[in-house]
Amino acid sequence: MYSASVDYYRAGSVAEAVSLLQQHDGAKLLAGGHSLIPLMKLRLAEPSALIDIGHVSGMKGIEQSNGVLKIGALTPHADIASSDAVQQASPMLAEAAAMIGDPQVRNRGTIGGNVAHADPASDLPTVLTALGATFGVTGPIGERSIPAAGFFQGLMSTALAANEVLTSVEIPASASGQGSAYSKFSHPASRYAVIGAAAIVTVSGGKCTAASVVLGGLVSSPTRAALVEAALTGNALDEDTIATAAANASDDLGDDVIGDIFASAEYRRSVATVYVGRAITAAAVRAG
Ligand SMILES: Cc1cc2nc3c(=O)[nH]c(=O)nc-3n(C[C@H](O)[C@H](O)[C@H](O)COP(=O)(O)OP(=O)(O)OC[C@H]3O[C@@H](n4cnc5c(N)ncnc54)[C@H](O)[C@@H]3O)c2cc1C
Repeated sequence: MYSASVDYYRAGSVAEAVSLLQQHDGAKLLAGGHSLIPLMKLRLAEPSALIDIGHVSGMKGIEQSNGVLKIGALTPHADIASSDAVQQASPMLAEAAAMIGDPQVRNRGTIGGNVAHADPASDLPTVLTALGATFGVTGPIGERSIPAAGFFQGLMSTALAANEVLTSVEIPASASGQGSAYSKFSHPASRYAVIGAAAIVTVSGGKCTAASVVLGGLVSSPTRAALVEAALTGNALDEDTIATAAANASDDLGDDVIGDIFASAEYRRSVATVYVGRAITAAAVRAG
């Protein structure tokens, strides 16, 4: 199926993209096109205009300063997966990016598009929420930062205003004794996350001093597993502790767990325990 015809503009700068968004009510930014174009072909999205930001300079690349990673919104998943800086500073982010779709998707799809699209089955929103990332945004009145914890507001809904451009993602430096891991039950056709579990644990003196565990794919937005975190904190991360903590995996999800032809809500709730346990176990090993 072909999309409806649409006006096309190529922005040369972030300022021009913001200005074009203001001029064209109902317009959409186009980055890698790997979520927006399929929706347009299905006629589930019919933007009034496309504003291509793919050639805007300064929005692509990975920088590290004082341990903080700054990733341009146009950076493709493949660059994140293969970056030495990301692999060292945030192995969980590199491994999640490497699990996205297939090589074509990873070479075209961008971190900014993935985050702005806010598909519940995407991997990066889950990981970036666990990491406490911050999103750099530019709009008509200037720049602002939005913490990941307040960014994802429901099914394909974010804190971004219609005339704002997501320009970068910042990931705080990891603390010493910290390990992170992402574990995913992939849909066998698309590779999207049926269940995605991101875990970060900090270990000191043989005990877990802090934990951040976030689930994706189960409800409309990434969800912090607070009961799992509480059951880990203060304890040695042995097999029993991890299994007991992971058993709480679905307790913070509420009643709106997604169910579809591939996996029922009940099945997702049950299997989430396994993936949360795997992510914590791998994170604990990396914490050393
Ligand atoms: C076959 C297939 C398999 C996939 N598998 C996975 C998977 O396993 N895991 C996963 O996480 N994802 C998966 N994806 C999605 C893929 O990662 C997309 O590339 C990504 O979600 C969107 O990025 P994009 O650059 O293509 O964005 P686009 O499709 O260009 O844009 C998506 C949306 O974000 C908006 N947008 C884009 N950039 C910005 C910006 N800088 N500021 C503000 N708004 C912006 C657009 O206006 C649009 O609404 C898959 C996609 C396909 C086609």
